[in-house]
Amino acid sequence: MRRPRGTRDLFGEELARIRHVERVILDIFRRYGYQEVETPVFESLELFTKKSGSSIVDQIYAFKDKSGRELALRPELTAPVVRLYNEHLRSSPKPLKLFYLGHCFRYERPQIGRGRYRQFLQAGCEIIGSSRPEADAEVVALTAEIVEELGIKKCELRLGNVRLLREVLKRAGVSETEQDPIMRAIDSRDEIRLQAELDRWGIEEEDKKLLKSLISLRGGEKVLEDVRELIQGLPEATKALEKTKSIIDRLKWFGVHKFSIDFGISRGLEYYTDFVFELYSGGIQLGGGGRYDNLIELLGGEPCPAVGVGLGVDRIADALERHGVETPEDRLDCMVLPTTDEIIGEALRIAGELRRAGFSADVDLMGRSLSKGLSYANSRKAKFAVVVGPRDLKVGKVTIRKMKSGEQERVDRKRLTEFLSLG
Ligand code: AMP
Repeated sequence: MRRPRGTRDLFGEELARIRHVERVILDIFRRYGYQEVETPVFESLELFTKKSGSSIVDQIYAFKDKSGRELALRPELTAPVVRLYNEHLRSSPKPLKLFYLGHCFRYERPQIGRGRYRQFLQAGCEIIGSSRPEADAEVVALTAEIVEELGIKKCELRLGNVRLLREVLKRAGVSETEQDPIMRAIDSRDEIRLQAELDRWGIEEEDKKLLKSLISLRGGEKVLEDVRELIQGLPEATKALEKTKSIIDRLKWFGVHKFSIDFGISRGLEYYTDFVFELYSGGIQLGGGGRYDNLIELLGGEPCPAVGVGLGVDRIADALERHGVETPEDRLDCMVLPTTDEIIGEALRIAGELRRAGFSADVDLMGRSLSKGLSYANSRKAKFAVVVGPRDLKVGKVTIRKMKSGEQERVDRKRLTEFLSLG
């Protein structure tokens, strides 16, 4: 029997890397003042089709339960968090700052080398209730801080605003609710597909040209000035451009200066209304987010602005490996090695004391000889071996061996934990 296509078994260094990424991300969410939420792994299918339409069902693990309810394994976590907010937290003081970590499931063509799995781990956060640019800037700043703290140097942060594209489409006669297929075509960066969509909607040459110019303009902050000229006559787009500028100002005050502007970002999931951003490394998208001011209302709540980010933990861990970033190993502090079977009891007592004092400690469970025990301690990357022998014990001592240097010292049995804390 083999595991299902697109899934992974995780162990060893790969799992240690994922756990390290989780720890750093969760720690940063807490440092920025977010509270954790957890939602079910499966939800009503409707939660995900409401905005994206039934075409999304092809990419979702959707099923009927034994009572005929239409359910889905969650493909993402923003809609579930919004549902949770609408059900439990709508009257909490604003803004609400929530974070999550959980598995998501998508029925996509797996591409292991590009980090596309059918089950993957997403971490993310949402700021609910603030429409101010500080909120947008904060989610970008914490995203930048995560990659910086993880030590991923070759990363690209791209900022955009879907309002500009949406306003051009509106002027061209495509209403907001009809825009999704075109936005998805833009997201695919496939020119032929985009041309076909634009032709299908009979968009005038002038607007087609404008859209294509907006999509292709990328680079530093100067792009904002180029864009301003392009969108003259579209007041809502101009307002969105101003807001993007304010977000960028705040982002710099947060200490983030490395980013590029890209108005071709349209994001695959269509609930974004304004500011959007994506994080890339080696051509692979590690995360993305933006502002979604309509979703809360669409899912049955009172109108409420919100902005958030979703990060692919597996992809970030893969990026760490590609960049050769060392992750802290789960090292064993002590391996306790009794030299004879008669004193196994004392070895177990010592291991217990060490564990209660907060050390990670293991006892040889195979009855190995001392020399074999030491090479086992080596293979387990233990920092110290605590050798427990009858002669030492008689005089109230144990021997501590520093595994790296091979240095040994006899110490008082009673002062063992104290000695190791210093060592
Ligand atoms: P999205 O909800 O599509 O914006 O995805 C947010 C993040 O989740 C992406 O930036 C990826 O890092 C990650 N992600 C999305 N789909 C997959 C997948 N099939 N396998 C692994 N990670 C994924």
